[in-house]
Amino acid sequence: MRNKKFIDTHIRKIKTLSEKINKNITLMEICGGHTTVIMKYGIREILPDNVSLISGPGCPVCVSSQKDIDCVIELAKNNIPVATYGDMLRVPGTRDNLEKIKAESGNVFEVYSTTEVISLKNKYPDIVFFGVGFETTAPMTAYLLKKKICVYSVHKIIPPAMKILISGNVKIDGFINPGHVSTIIGVKEYKEIEFPQVISGFTPEQIIRGVSMLLELISKNENKVVNGYREVVRNKGNEKAKRLLNEMFSVEDSEWRGLGNIADSGLEVADNGLNAKIKYDKIISSVPEPKKTACRCGDVLKGLIEPGDCPLYRKVCTPENPKGACMVSKEGSCAIYYEYGK
Ligand code: SF4
Repeated sequence: MRNKKFIDTHIRKIKTLSEKINKNITLMEICGGHTTVIMKYGIREILPDNVSLISGPGCPVCVSSQKDIDCVIELAKNNIPVATYGDMLRVPGTRDNLEKIKAESGNVFEVYSTTEVISLKNKYPDIVFFGVGFETTAPMTAYLLKKKICVYSVHKIIPPAMKILISGNVKIDGFINPGHVSTIIGVKEYKEIEFPQVISGFTPEQIIRGVSMLLELISKNENKVVNGYREVVRNKGNEKAKRLLNEMFSVEDSEWRGLGNIADSGLEVADNGLNAKIKYDKIISSVPEPKKTACRCGDVLKGLIEPGDCPLYRKVCTPENPKGACMVSKEGSCAIYYEYGK
């Protein structure tokens, strides 16, 4: 049951503030979970004409680089058992995907929890866990590293990507910051990004309130972060999880699909003996650079285009037959637009 009174109050506030600001305003929601709710509840349609919401790079499956996908496929092809979460199996590599290698070789494993990976390690001592995601899922991978499981990490850190987006080709006036990531990193880490930001929860009410809070910041020219998800997000975040991340990972430059190489934006396995990229360097170094395809995920992730602007969208690229990462995951913009778009 939606809280109509609450929503009406904030919509009125949004209207007043947008008239006061009196120019076009573009807000980016970083997280795919927010995009899903925004599309599902038609939040874009109820905002004033001069306020736009665009999707950002908050789908972990989507931002993993093509080269990393190809490298993990190559490991599996070389008889190294690989375990990862379901969506990663369907992300197209340059020639294959992990699902195909799973069917052909039987040494790719779809898992739902760290417990399953630990059980697999008993049977396959050389198993490599393909660790994907932002600060939210990285602590689980850190736990696997503690259990001496070898990891190919493409874990990413959100704030450095936000800084890149501010100076990118799309004019952004404010960010709706990701709620789940913020539960781990807290509020403090966003403070060095001097830009209007609101951390939001995931109900339509919370997102609409987040938009009104952002417009308030913009109307007052305040470049700061406000926590609009106090129910869950603490100022210092989850300190235990952060300690675990610091212990098991080192912060390195990382390649993002669409955004390129971003300084200090990746979590790399600190222990060389458990780092699949080092352990299997010979196999990985033989993987060629991927060729450019017609898929425009990179531009979708930067907010440069909407999924419908991609010539393959709905015609040849569908959730059943994805041609790019953004159509695979439920948090991918193309899949969300496919499900909830007009
Ligand atoms: Fe890539 Fe498909 Fe999205 Fe086009 S519609 S950008 S091919 S995922």
